[in-house]
Amino acid sequence: MSRDTTREAARRDRLRATAAANGLDAVLVTNLLNVRYLTGFTGSNGVLLVRTDGADVFGTDGRYTTQAGVQVPDVELLVDRGTELALARAAVQVGATRLGYESHVVTVDGLRALERATGEGGRGVELVSIAQAVEALRVVKDAGEVEALRRACAVADRALAELAAEGALRPGRSELEVGRELDARMLTLGAESPSFETIVAAGANSAIPHHRPDATVLRDGDFLKLDFGATVEGYHSDMTRTVVLGHAADWQREVYELVATSQAAGRAALAVGAEVTAVDAASRDVIVAAGHGEHFTHGLGHGVGLEIHEAPGISALGAGTLSAGMAVTVEPGVYLPGHGGVRIEDTLIVTDDEPELLTLTSKELLVL
Ligand code: ZN
Ligand code: ZN
Repeated sequence: MSRDTTREAARRDRLRATAAANGLDAVLVTNLLNVRYLTGFTGSNGVLLVRTDGADVFGTDGRYTTQAGVQVPDVELLVDRGTELALARAAVQVGATRLGYESHVVTVDGLRALERATGEGGRGVELVSIAQAVEALRVVKDAGEVEALRRACAVADRALAELAAEGALRPGRSELEVGRELDARMLTLGAESPSFETIVAAGANSAIPHHRPDATVLRDGDFLKLDFGATVEGYHSDMTRTVVLGHAADWQREVYELVATSQAAGRAALAVGAEVTAVDAASRDVIVAAGHGEHFTHGLGHGVGLEIHEAPGISALGAGTLSAGMAVTVEPGVYLPGHGGVRIEDTLIVTDDEPELLTLTSKELLVL
């Protein structure tokens, strides 16, 4: 029995509607993640032609003939080493005169080649930019995507819980050791890979928002900031927790409580129709009011899905509003250079009611 491809077919229909609304005969999808989203294909070379008349064609090379048959059983297959141009020619042969292409992905050389391929024989084909059209569909997750995100977040939750319970997060160990163990545990628990390069930052390093783990040894009294995630079925989770080793000083409790309060305000602001700038402000205002505005040096959050960072960006510079089904992070931080910093980050789904929290690890200050 072949794979259930109902969801991918529905996504192609949504792109077809976009294409029709723009007066296009077909759209050539060359961003590999977008191809995966629209077909389920996970190989390294795939191009998709979505036609407004419904006769879509999926193209790949000979390495993937078998895989394409299994993963994309419901779309006509074209096997050709020059996949992209072959599909463009195929569109012209069936009479396409307006062909959409992903101008945010195609290079200048690639566009020239497309122009040559579609102009052969003197046929006048208009190449039309449809930048970010598939990405615009991807911002709202369907039920299958939300389920994959839930599982990716659960793997990260469990990996951290197991390491903490085993005493793996303790003075004397290095950031690198902790990071590698966290990665290995996520793989054991079913992750395809870590979502990104795991951040482990101890002591003063925790004041560096994206510190890369090194040989720094964890010491008693340190903040330990862990920012990591798991990839499941191509979907990424993203979580940050900051703990204290041994004993928490008053200043550490104060900074932690401030960030936790700010993070809760950001989560509470996640509502359908909310401006992303207002969500950022809801969280940021708490930190600014406490006099730490200059120590919160990044945006509040970002979308997650097939990419670790995708639309919508939630920041003072962002634009647009939230919709039900968006998967986003909320991750304020306060970083005190030379001392230490705290970030608390969750992955959530925006819904018509309360947002659904996917990263379930406690946000109480944990002293290990
Ligand atoms: Zn993160
Ligand atoms: Zn993040």
